[in-house]
Amino acid sequence: MNRVLIVTSQSNDAKALSEVLQDASDGPYAIESLTLLAPALARIDSGDIDVILVDLSLPDSQGIATFDQLFAVAPQIPILILSGTEEEELANLAVQRGAQGYLSKGYFESYLVPQSLRNIIQRKAVEESVFMEKARAEITLNSISDAVIGTDMNGNVDYLNVAAEKMTGWPREDARGKPISVVMQIINGATREPRRNPIELVLEQDQEMQLTAGTILIRRDGRECAIEDSAAPIHDANGQLSGAVIVFHDITDAQATALKMAYLAQHDFLTNLPNRVLLNDRISQAIAVAERRRSHLGVLFLDLDNFKLINDSLGHSIGDRLLQSVAQRLTACVRRSDTVSRQGGDEFVVLLTEDNFAEDAALTAEKILTAMAQSHVLDGQQLLVTTSIGISTYPADGLNAETLIKHADSAMYQAKERGRNNYQFFASNMSNQAVARQTIETELRVALERHEFVLHYQPKVNLASGAITGTEALLRWNHLQLGQLQPSRFVSIAEDCGLIVEIGRWVLHEACKQACLWRDSELLCGPMAVNVSALEFRDKGFVAGLEAILAQTGLPASALQLELSESALMREAQFSSQVLQQLHSLGVLLAVDEFGTGYSSLTQLAQFPLDVLKIDQSFVQKLDAQDDNRVIVSALIAMGSSLKLRLVAEGVENPAQLAFLKGQRCEEGQGFLFSPPLAAERMSALLVRGIRPLTFSGRE
Ligand code: C2E
Ligand code: MG
Repeated sequence: MNRVLIVTSQSNDAKALSEVLQDASDGPYAIESLTLLAPALARIDSGDIDVILVDLSLPDSQGIATFDQLFAVAPQIPILILSGTEEEELANLAVQRGAQGYLSKGYFESYLVPQSLRNIIQRKAVEESVFMEKARAEITLNSISDAVIGTDMNGNVDYLNVAAEKMTGWPREDARGKPISVVMQIINGATREPRRNPIELVLEQDQEMQLTAGTILIRRDGRECAIEDSAAPIHDANGQLSGAVIVFHDITDAQATALKMAYLAQHDFLTNLPNRVLLNDRISQAIAVAERRRSHLGVLFLDLDNFKLINDSLGHSIGDRLLQSVAQRLTACVRRSDTVSRQGGDEFVVLLTEDNFAEDAALTAEKILTAMAQSHVLDGQQLLVTTSIGISTYPADGLNAETLIKHADSAMYQAKERGRNNYQFFASNMSNQAVARQTIETELRVALERHEFVLHYQPKVNLASGAITGTEALLRWNHLQLGQLQPSRFVSIAEDCGLIVEIGRWVLHEACKQACLWRDSELLCGPMAVNVSALEFRDKGFVAGLEAILAQTGLPASALQLELSESALMREAQFSSQVLQQLHSLGVLLAVDEFGTGYSSLTQLAQFPLDVLKIDQSFVQKLDAQDDNRVIVSALIAMGSSLKLRLVAEGVENPAQLAFLKGQRCEEGQGFLFSPPLAAERMSALLVRGIRPLTFSGRE
C-alpha cells in the first residue's frame, strides 16, 4: 500500500484529495494529512512516505522555499505541487528543481488524480532501479582490470573506468570531452607510425573491430606499454549509433612470457645454444641465400668421444658442465654469422654460412679439434674430451637441411671408426655404412636374448717351451644374416649405446664357466683372460657383479685375468687405481692390453697393481719391416721387466718375429703362429694335444 502525505492548510483541498484517493480503483492509499511544514519534515524523516502532495503556501513556509526544504530532506520521494491557477509559474519553478509535477486546484475530485499519482510513483521506482543499475555497472567497470573508454558519436571521450585512467594517465575529468586520439595515443610497435584509433573506425563503419596486433599505447607521461584492444559501437534505444566503447589491456608481461616461451622452444636449456628446431630453420634460410648467390655451405656434425664414460663415472652435473664448456669453445671457434647448435646428448652441429671452399670447413674442423685438445678444468679436475667430426657441404652432399645433417652424421661415424679425434668429409657410400651401423645397434639389443653370442678362445704360449700358459676369451656374434661378426664390427657400437655392460657380464660368466670345465678335466692350469672395456670397468656394479660370477661358477679369482686397454686405464688414473686395488685384493690377475699405444709413463704404471703387460700386435707385426719397431719392442719389454710384470707379445704371426721376441727374453706370446682363436670344442682338442715345442709351425 502506498502512503501519501498531504501537506496543506486548506482543509477543503485535503478532504477532497483524501476522498478521491480512497475511492480510487487502483488503491487503496494510506493517507496522512498535515497543515504545517515543520511536522511534515519530521514525518518524512521518520520514513515510509511514497509520495508528497504539497501546497507551497503554508503558515510556516511560503513559496519555493517550501519545496526546497522538502526536496532537501527527501530527494528520492516524488513531490507533487498543489497549485492554484495563479501559482502556475511557481509550480513550474518547483518542477525545474526536481518536483515531479503539479495538480491544479479545482480538479482534485477528478479520477485523473490517483492515476497521475500512480504514474509518478512508478516512474520514480523505474528511475531508482536505473540508477542502481548504473551504479552497479560503474562499480563493475571500475573493478575489472581491463581499461574501458566510452565516447560519444563524435569520438569525444565521455567515460573512463579506473583502469583506463591508470593506463592512459588521464583522469576522467581531464579526459571528458577530449577526442579519443588525444586520450588514447597509439602507435604500431614495429614501425612506430601512429595508428588510427579503432574507435574512429568503429564510428565510421558502425561495426565491431577485432584485435589489432602489435599496438603500443603511449601514456600521457610518454611511457609506453603493449596493448591488445577491441572496440564496439553503442546504439541507442532506436538502434541509432550513439557512441563507441573500447576495451584494452596491458600485454607487456604476457608478451615477455610469449617471447621467453618462443626462445625456450628454440634453444637448448643447458647450453643456451640453438636447438634442432632453430638449426633446421637456419640451414633452410642459409640454403635459400646460398642458392641465390650460388655459394656453398658447410655442416659439421660433432660427437664427443667417450662422453658417456665421463658422464657415468663422474656424475651428470660434471657431464653437464663439460657440455657447457664444450659449447663455449665451439662458439669461439666460428664466426658470429655461423650457428653452433646442440642436437641433444653430446652431439653438436655447426652451420658454416660463408663456406666457399671445402678447405674452409676443414680449417674450422681442425680449429675445433685443436681447441678441444685442451683439457677442461671443472671442480679442480682436468678433463679431456676429444671429438669426432663429420662434414657435409651444400650443394654437393645434399639440398636440404635434413639430408645435410644426415650425411654429416654418417661422416662423423666414419671419423669415429677411423680412431676418433679426427674429421671426415661425407662420401656417398657412407650413408649405407651409417644405416648398417644403426641396424647393428638395433639388432645388438636382442642378440643376448637370442643367444647369438659365442666365445672363441686363443691360447697363450710359453715362447721357449711351447706350453699353453692360458687362454683369452674373444667374443663372436653369430648374426642371422651377416654370419659370424668379429668384435671390431660391433664392440664400439655396443660401447656407444651402453649395451657393452650387459654383454660384458655375459662374457665373464661364460668364460668363467668354461674355465671351470677345463680346470675340472685338468686341461688348463693357466688363467682365463677376459677383455673388459673401459665402460664396463667404470660401471658402479662391476666389482660386485664379478664377485657374484666367481661365486656362481666356483672359479678361483686367481684363475681369472682381466685385460684392460692402456688408454682406458690412463684416462682417469685415480679412479682406475681404486677399482684395480679392489680387483687385486680379490685375487684377480690384471693385464694391460694394447700396451705401447696409450703413452703411459712408468711412474703411472707403477702405481697400479698390475700382473701382465700385453705388447700391442701393431709393434710385433711390423718387427720385420722397420728397425724402429725393434727398438720400441725392446723398450717395452725392458719397461715390463723393470716393473716385474709378465710380458705377453700379441699378434705373433711368423718365426722371425718369434725369434726376435725370444732373443729379447719375452716369455710369452699369442698369435696365429701358434693358433687362431677357436670355438670351445676345438680349443679343448688343442688343449689335449698341445702345441709342438719350438717348431710352432702348424696352425691348428
Ligand atoms: P685384443 O684383446 O687385443 O685381442 C686380440 C685380437 O687379435 C683378437 O681379435 C685376435 O683374434 C687377434 N689376433 C690374435 N692373434 C693374431 C695374429 O697373429 N695376427 C692378427 N692380425 N691378429 C691376431 P678379435 O677377436 O677380433 O678381437 C679384437 C678386440 O676386440 C680384442 O683385442 C678386444 O679388445 C676386443 N674384444 C674381444 N672380445 C671382447 C669381449 O668379450 N669384450 C670386450 N669388451 N672386448 C672384446
Ligand atoms: Mg685382449
